Amino acid sequence: MQEIISQFIEKVKCRNAGENEFLQAVTEVAESILPYIHEVPQYKNARILERIVEPERVIIFRVPWLNDKGEVEVNRGFRVQMNSSIGPYKGGLRFHPSVNLSVLKFLAFEQVFKNSLTGLPMGGGKGGSDFDPKGKSDNEVMKFCQSFMTELYRHVGADIDIPAGDIGVGKREIGYLFGQYKRIRGEFSGVLTGKGYEWGGSLIRPEATGYGLVYFVEEILKLTGDSLVGKKIAISGSGNVAQFAVEKCIEKGAVVVTMSDSEGFIHDADGIDEHKLAYIKHLKDTERGRIKEYAKKYNCDFYPGERPWKIKCDIALPNATQNELNGDDAMQLVKNGCICVAEGANMPCTPEAVSVFHKAKIFYAPGKAANAGGVAVSGLEMSQNSQRYAWTREEVDNKLRGIMRDIHKICLKHGKEKDGYVNYEKGANIGGFVKIADSMLAQGVV
Ligand code: GLU
Repeated sequence: MQEIISQFIEKVKCRNAGENEFLQAVTEVAESILPYIHEVPQYKNARILERIVEPERVIIFRVPWLNDKGEVEVNRGFRVQMNSSIGPYKGGLRFHPSVNLSVLKFLAFEQVFKNSLTGLPMGGGKGGSDFDPKGKSDNEVMKFCQSFMTELYRHVGADIDIPAGDIGVGKREIGYLFGQYKRIRGEFSGVLTGKGYEWGGSLIRPEATGYGLVYFVEEILKLTGDSLVGKKIAISGSGNVAQFAVEKCIEKGAVVVTMSDSEGFIHDADGIDEHKLAYIKHLKDTERGRIKEYAKKYNCDFYPGERPWKIKCDIALPNATQNELNGDDAMQLVKNGCICVAEGANMPCTPEAVSVFHKAKIFYAPGKAANAGGVAVSGLEMSQNSQRYAWTREEVDNKLRGIMRDIHKICLKHGKEKDGYVNYEKGANIGGFVKIADSMLAQGVV
């Protein structure tokens, strides 16, 4: 089997040379899917996996815009339309200087499996730009978004491809993108999710990824009759996912002791309470400031340039970005008695880290399962837009809870090993794959 896996990876490497993040994501999936496919000749013969790793379409475009000094700036825009076998392309837009084709292909690839796991009819896609919103004025962000949508509009639509937010794209950016789409097309439609509630957004969408992550962790802990009460939690990130993960952890009686941004992390041994969290939300979303300000205000430790994984915790929630937790970090976490790592970000743990968790047999929940709550509520936003209706907070929250519970069940079904250990990575990969593969089979060679 190892031989078959290596041959497959080699072929993908040849066609996608240098796309390291994409190759990492494909390798991780291929390792769990290929042994499974081996047992199902119709998947093998229809070359489903070979087709899944090839995007249906990639669009790359120029994004010129004028900055506040009246100078011309040029960025690159992308949309990777990865797979539409179970629904229109769906996935966020990332605006960050690190964005390139490899990063977006990895994210689009992960999205295909994640969206399938939600049980909702959404294909997978991802897009974005190397534009850096940090330090830009509102006016500059608006100019950029308008230029970006002036090209993207011809490739998206409420039944074609529905982008949303990701790193660097929040309610502000979605607003500017939506306004420009509406103006060009002359239609008010559900072309984007993560919209403001007043103009077609869903309640609970801002909270969904963070809340969903914590609901998923609760399901994991339930397996051993455990709960979040009194658990010490290390969190990285301080954006949308991290903020609402902290909020839900506090509500569940856990103690969150760290948060971070690109400049370092804060360690608050007393725990971040709801007042401190309100300060962080204001600091990050309104002032667009740095997390080190928190350490000054609350007189706690700030570790410049570091990540929080050396802090002793029961549960670690990496919520910042890809490859932010490596093999050494993983060993440190295990040594410190961490029992569960669940990914709020996409692919934050390196393959070395994941293998440390598996060897130590601690719970490890990959992003495509654990952070699927965000896109799940995006799917619910689409349903509400189609009905021209809006559900209550309770309705959306209950549906989100149910979806996270179902994803957990799928992981158990496909990931439980002979000794009882649940390999969530395998469970999520196979569980996500089956629906896509069956749909592709049904739709012929397209
Ligand atoms: N960017 C989020 C993700 O990684 C959400 C995507 C969406 O809502 O379409 O799943």
